Amino acid sequence: MNIILFGPPGAGKGTQAKYLVKKLNNFQISTGDILREEIKNNSDIGKKIIDVMNDGRFVSDDIVNQLLEKQVFDPQKKNKLIFDGYPRSINQAKNLDLLLDSSNQKIDFVFFLNVNKETIIKRIQKRKILEKRSDDELDTILKRYDTYMETTKPVLDFYSKNSNFHEIDGSDEIEQITNKIDTFINV
Ligand code: AMP
Repeated sequence: MNIILFGPPGAGKGTQAKYLVKKLNNFQISTGDILREEIKNNSDIGKKIIDVMNDGRFVSDDIVNQLLEKQVFDPQKKNKLIFDGYPRSINQAKNLDLLLDSSNQKIDFVFFLNVNKETIIKRIQKRKILEKRSDDELDTILKRYDTYMETTKPVLDFYSKNSNFHEIDGSDEIEQITNKIDTFINV
């Protein structure tokens, strides 16, 4: 089963992704984690993206698409993909469709975890203390939220037409969100 978790930073995508990975024995494909790993390894890509990421802006579609291709075509991960933080632009959504088509896969569910700005701010501030993430300064949080909402609106429109799209109230407790997801996937 392939699932897209969609929603602004702090909506709980990572938490639900980890739950689904365990339940379905799948793989979490977090572009944020993949990009942070490039920076940590000081790779050529890492050097290119460090400023953009610290500034709360989106990394270019070319770079993200290139890193994602490896994941989609990994035979071990076939039909076991939990996308967390991808796609975030129409270009990425179309690229994902092409990659899935050519690897004989499809998306089974798209879950949109919807939360308002106030809830997000509270959650990310808490996460900053727990995880000490360097890109989580308050200004950056707000910029990331606004960037997300502006850039991903067309992506939301792209997916929300399909019957496998479900909007879930992301301000609910973690377990309530998990229960709702479980009801939809029904496994
Ligand atoms: P996240 O961990 O998903 O909140 O992502 C952290 C940061 O990584 C974002 O603010 C972006 O700078 C970058 N990033 C993650 N995923 C993507 C993506 N699909 N497209 C562009 N930039 C991304």
